[in-house]
Amino acid sequence: MAKPKLTPAELTKRIEHHLQFTLGEVADKENKQAYWRATCLAINEAVISKLQTTRARQQEKQVKSVNYLSLEYLMGRMLSNNLHNLGVFEAAEKALKNFDMELSDLCEQGADLALGNGGLGRLAACFLDSLATLDYAATGYGVHYQHGLFKQSFDQGRQIEEPDLWREFGSPWEVCRPEAAQLIPLYGHVEHQTQADGSVKSIWHPSVTFKGVPWDVPIVGYNSDTVNVLRLWESRAVDAFNWDLFNNGDYLQAHKTNVQAETVSKVLYPNDEHDAGKELRFIQQYFFCACSIKDIIARHQGLNGVDWAAFANDTAIQLNDTHPTIAIVELQRTLIDDYGMNWNDAWALCRKVFAYTNHTLLPEALEKWSVKLFERVLPRHLEILYHINEEFLNNEVNAKWPHDFQMRAKLSIIEEGAERMVRMAHLCVVTAHKVNGVAEIHSKLVKSDLFPEFDALWPEKLTNVTNGITPRRWLKACNPELSKLISKHVKKDWAKDLDSLKSLEKLADDAKFQKEFMAIKRNNKVKLAEEIESLTGVKVSPDAIFDIQIKRLHEYKRQHLNFLHILALYHRLLENPDMEMHPRVFIFGAKAAPGYHLAKEIIFAINKVADKVNNDVRIKDKLKVVFLPNYRVSLAEKIIPAADVSEQISTAGKEASGTGNMKLALNGAVTIGTLDGANIEIAEEVGDDNIFIFGNTVDQVKAIKASGYNPYDFYETNKELTKILDWLDSDFFTPGQPYELSAIKHSLLDGGDPYLVLADFQSYSDAHHALDVAYREPARWAKMAILNTALMGKFNSDRSIQDYVNNIWQLTPCAE
Ligand SMILES: *Cc1c(COP(=O)(O)O)cnc(C)c1O
Repeated sequence: MAKPKLTPAELTKRIEHHLQFTLGEVADKENKQAYWRATCLAINEAVISKLQTTRARQQEKQVKSVNYLSLEYLMGRMLSNNLHNLGVFEAAEKALKNFDMELSDLCEQGADLALGNGGLGRLAACFLDSLATLDYAATGYGVHYQHGLFKQSFDQGRQIEEPDLWREFGSPWEVCRPEAAQLIPLYGHVEHQTQADGSVKSIWHPSVTFKGVPWDVPIVGYNSDTVNVLRLWESRAVDAFNWDLFNNGDYLQAHKTNVQAETVSKVLYPNDEHDAGKELRFIQQYFFCACSIKDIIARHQGLNGVDWAAFANDTAIQLNDTHPTIAIVELQRTLIDDYGMNWNDAWALCRKVFAYTNHTLLPEALEKWSVKLFERVLPRHLEILYHINEEFLNNEVNAKWPHDFQMRAKLSIIEEGAERMVRMAHLCVVTAHKVNGVAEIHSKLVKSDLFPEFDALWPEKLTNVTNGITPRRWLKACNPELSKLISKHVKKDWAKDLDSLKSLEKLADDAKFQKEFMAIKRNNKVKLAEEIESLTGVKVSPDAIFDIQIKRLHEYKRQHLNFLHILALYHRLLENPDMEMHPRVFIFGAKAAPGYHLAKEIIFAINKVADKVNNDVRIKDKLKVVFLPNYRVSLAEKIIPAADVSEQISTAGKEASGTGNMKLALNGAVTIGTLDGANIEIAEEVGDDNIFIFGNTVDQVKAIKASGYNPYDFYETNKELTKILDWLDSDFFTPGQPYELSAIKHSLLDGGDPYLVLADFQSYSDAHHALDVAYREPARWAKMAILNTALMGKFNSDRSIQDYVNNIWQLTPCAE
């Protein structure tokens, strides 16, 4: 069983050792970075030794493993999480006391590993945590971006982006594995050789080769026997230097291939839910998929090569959205070209190992690559892709719908048109043995709206796995006071068995428990108020309602609906400063993709209105608005424990699941939300009395669009909407600069309001009124908050992983 845990004394010794010998530090208490690094290194020793025993055990038991392919991992900070998961958080606190250091201070020193944009990357991080916690053999594969998601600041209300330097001086958590480097060919041409038997063999002559160097980040399971690995590929030139050119005096040219190669893993593309179709992104995708496929095969290499029958039984490959789709073609190509397997056997194997998760129905996010680009970068892969498509259309589609050319065109992996395109999602669905959406409603829409023909062709293939979040990071570590209170009442290890929180249900009406629960909420709000003041200079009262919308900025998420409602409240307060209303602080956190113009205008408008509102003495501090800069995992961990209200207000049918909604509810925030994504399942768990649902449903949205939605109808008939939208054209918020905030109004009226903001406005406003009334009954509100925490068990990412294991991966745990 588990080895004895690190004692404070042992940890003290190791930290001292690293301070002195690894970092060459002479006990300078001001140098918190050094203490942070030494602590990480001390902990990482325990992590690495557990990693080695895990690997030995997994190899010995030869359990099936899952390979999670994702272009994004939004890991956040690692220190506090690793300490909690190893069960040595208190020991580390004591050890650091010996140096007069606060562990919580040191935890703040680490940079976030922000190798992702938003929900999709954070989901991958939560899943890795759960896989290790449940003792499943799993490897995460991704890109070792030199720069993760940009840092955000505001200059006079406008978003400024700066590069993220998360490992400027190296990260203590990663280990380079040069022995497992891979060579990745690209470009060139395909030669067709006729063989003696008359068959034609394709030989790819690539013109460029890059090297993939793996960096391993250990993933520590919570209170388990397992440490798995997140393997991130960095691209480098094969030859660090061209000596011929150098000797001829062309020093810069000598370095050029180097620069080209390093560009591939240089930066994370900052688009969330949007495919920009850039060549470098395509190469990034291929690069990391090809490295990962070679690595997966290498793990199965025995003395007599790879046992392919065993390979298919031991290996699952999960595609996190379509970003890693090219891995399918790469495996098929490898099996045929490099291992001499025949087409049908290779294809059967591909179909057995791959499964695909769909994350979005938004058309702008569905990846398509031009055939031309494919042909230039991966000519051999295009040939294989054509062959896959032909077999699919001629055999499977034709069998079901004989000679139906419309159906062929509709289902084809190739989209015909002025520019022929490869539909990556079609390739995924054709190949994968299972395709899952990420919440019940989303999976239903994947079947009915996105892929109805595929669903008819393969009725068992399309399925659902509702997303989840790890309760370790999103409650135990980020909300220590609430965790302590819970542990007093729940005997089980609730951070593993989150369903056990249900036993708090009976305390929801208990006056003493309510008092304790709400006192913790208030403490967390005091801390957040300090953070808000230090980040923005704005003072907010912890007695106000903290109303929170934190997520990427996107029209479908409708931060501008929240914004319009704030304008309405402000307008009402100016007309009637004594209006009955509990003081409210609206708190935003959101990055906009640098090229997303309207999203940036929304940030600007919120900041301008915040300026005005926060300094208007007429409204007597009843309303405050703050936009916290640089929203990221570590900031989320500070905001979420202090939330009273969780804004989940996407247009119904647009948010696949959402996971921010789960984190906030778990920490006792009450949701105001639409019947969209996982909100629907949250409402089922907590009951209609403990959530504020508003707005048009998926079916109503469809009906409104079908009957020809005209936003002017709402603008003209709703007098409050008329006033606040016209307000934006004035110079009230931007003195001397009228029309500076008009972009939002313009998109809502002349732009057709594609996300039905105006159609949902009144219903949203009414729900907010009901919420305000509820908050003014403290016992009622406390009960709602407690029940939200108590009833979130379903949204443990351990449950999601167990669903994947049961329905898609068929793994068995590998504990000691
Ligand atoms: C959870 C999380 C998200 C996803 O939030 P949604 O509200 O589901 O879009 C995005 N960014 C960060 C930093 C997160 O922690």
